[in-house]
Amino acid sequence: MKLFSSKTRPMHLGPFPLERLRRLHAPHDQLPDAPMPVLRFERPEAPQSICNAMAPFQAMMDVLRDGPVNTAGAVIPESPVERANHLKSFGYYNDASMMGVCALPDEAHLATPRRSEGTAQLAEFLRNRQTKTLAAGVDIIMANLRDAVDAPETSIDAHSHALVVLTAHPRDPREDEPGSDWIMDAQAERACLRGTENATVLAEYIRQLGFAAKVHSGTTSDVNLGQLAVAAGLAVWEDGTLQAPWIGSRFGLAVVTTDMELAPDLPLCPFSEQPWSLLKGPHWQLGTHGGVSARDVDPYARRDYAAGPHPFETLKRVDEPTTYIDAPNVPRVPKRGDLFARGQFGDMGPKVQNAMKGGHHVVKSAPSAAQRRLLGALILLQDGPVNDAAPAMADSARNAANLKAASYFLGADAAGLSACPDWTWYSHDATGTPITPPHDQALSLIIDQGFDTMEGSSGDDWIAVSQSMRAYLRFSMLGGVMAQHLRNLGHAAKAHTVMDGDVLQPPLLLLAGLGEVSRIGEVILNPFLGPRLKSGVVTTTLPVDHDKPIDFGLQKFCEACNKCARECPSGAITAGPKKMFNGYEIWKSDSQKCATYRITNQGGAMCGRCMKTCPWNLEGLFAEAPFRWAASNIPAAAPLLAKLDDMVGKGRLNPVKKWWWDIERKPSGQFDTPAQPVNARDLQPDLDLKFEDQTLAVYPAPLAPHPWPYPDPMNREAGIAAHAALLSADEHRRKTAAG
Ligand code: SF4
Repeated sequence: MKLFSSKTRPMHLGPFPLERLRRLHAPHDQLPDAPMPVLRFERPEAPQSICNAMAPFQAMMDVLRDGPVNTAGAVIPESPVERANHLKSFGYYNDASMMGVCALPDEAHLATPRRSEGTAQLAEFLRNRQTKTLAAGVDIIMANLRDAVDAPETSIDAHSHALVVLTAHPRDPREDEPGSDWIMDAQAERACLRGTENATVLAEYIRQLGFAAKVHSGTTSDVNLGQLAVAAGLAVWEDGTLQAPWIGSRFGLAVVTTDMELAPDLPLCPFSEQPWSLLKGPHWQLGTHGGVSARDVDPYARRDYAAGPHPFETLKRVDEPTTYIDAPNVPRVPKRGDLFARGQFGDMGPKVQNAMKGGHHVVKSAPSAAQRRLLGALILLQDGPVNDAAPAMADSARNAANLKAASYFLGADAAGLSACPDWTWYSHDATGTPITPPHDQALSLIIDQGFDTMEGSSGDDWIAVSQSMRAYLRFSMLGGVMAQHLRNLGHAAKAHTVMDGDVLQPPLLLLAGLGEVSRIGEVILNPFLGPRLKSGVVTTTLPVDHDKPIDFGLQKFCEACNKCARECPSGAITAGPKKMFNGYEIWKSDSQKCATYRITNQGGAMCGRCMKTCPWNLEGLFAEAPFRWAASNIPAAAPLLAKLDDMVGKGRLNPVKKWWWDIERKPSGQFDTPAQPVNARDLQPDLDLKFEDQTLAVYPAPLAPHPWPYPDPMNREAGIAAHAALLSADEHRRKTAAG
């Protein structure tokens, strides 16, 4: 847990106090002759290595390193300083350890550019692969991807600047720790994968704004990455190696070169000239700058990878989830019932359908448009053929430890294992084809949406959709690698992502002990991340030991608090009690209201205001520990804690953290000032929201649409009647018992 808050630390400064270091007065006359380490993703001699599974994902990003530039230049600030700070902030938002900027010197161009062999194989695969997803705009993404693999190489001769992404290694796994079978000797490849993901999004973003940009990774590059890290003030060349402050030589690099003018950083002075207190002394030990410190820079320094970064072992485990699930009577519903699919096919009327054309509700935000290209491409790697020649893996405890350790090593924020019962699968897939559940085990993963950016956001402004997309993309990458690895090892597996998934995730998160049902509705709230998360699931046939559900007192807390319902801009969250819906006991929200607001939001793009304003949306500070303890252990304190949260103004906007630009995609394709005022809401503590004043509609299984991809209009009057008819869990039990 952190001692000092980051609330006054602007996003572009990042987690390390780089701004406090001494720098040279001018760029280097000559850069060190830094070698480019050779990475090995393909390891036929070590089939257990997770690097094998990372290979197609790295190749996919190398295919997408370049792309068409938006011919309509965006209306953005002219200042090179502001542009540099903005792009660094975006890199930190993507979880870079350090970001730096430099002018691109001629000597950093490689005499022999590095090219990956994996991209040629992948290009052939991409030309032929079909998809069945319903997600809006995916056909455009696919056309774009096929163009990308056939496009000629472009030159970077006109690129003037470089943006450097540095990704630190966590602790090296120990051979004797549980779950280390797949993750030994994979640090460089892991850092390459994660850094390239970041750079791929940044480069696409710059191109969306109307400037040329190209990614350079450890596997495919036209420039010397190490030299640029020195030039951008992220590393020094000492004792024959590249060394970054506080990190040493344990990091990976990725670079974006561009023709956008950016204010460069100056190179660092040698370590011997840096203040001791900053590099090693009290400032670093305590983290006085509000970022990471020696105590918390690596969450795995004193924890096994299989245990994850958060102390789940301290939570109370229970045999059943804290909310009732009538498993034998859960009806399976078609994927077509997803509200975004319903909107896309016109079930929710022309206003919603028009707002979704070409994925406009997502790509109207520039950061989200940048994330969506890679997110769409990864659909192609979610599933695939299984290696039938692999030996069996029958040790369920060892399998469980390996799955968790590998997920955490790659960067998941929480991981849990459960059975994947038939009732968690949709009845029909996106094409209307009935689903026979192919897998009976599930690895559920959680990705943190990030505290800092949430602090600066109203939850429904121009960064909101990107916060979701960032987490969805991260899962598509990590979950995709995990599924690929299981298939490599002989077990069927599929990553179920936002773009293409066949299972309902909330019940699987409950079974895997990753959270409890919250008032928000379908959002499962995690005790360490609150509701500030997105999830994804990998289903498989690999036998694994299961986790148990958790009880951290949330049911009592949400009963005493209705802040999310009060603050919801669309009034979709119930202020009333839990009810049974399709066999689950939940606070059932009006998903139609929620989806309509998110899709047609004019003052931003999408919405996650419930996550932003919830008292469980915590920074992870030591000072927050008493709240967390009392909220979990003293049910009677819940009303007081909820009130206290309002009194201290938690959930308000923090302007220090607003790093993104409010720009909206116009019909011409140009990103420009939004037509409508930007949502910048404050809390409304005086609003006394009453359940009896709410009109909510729900669409249980009998009101679900047909499974096929054509219209089936929603009947809101029937939905309102269905809401009025919902039963409590006790009433449902009595009715079921009476037959
Ligand atoms: Fe529960 Fe309050 Fe958070 Fe809503 S805001 S999910 S009621 S704790």
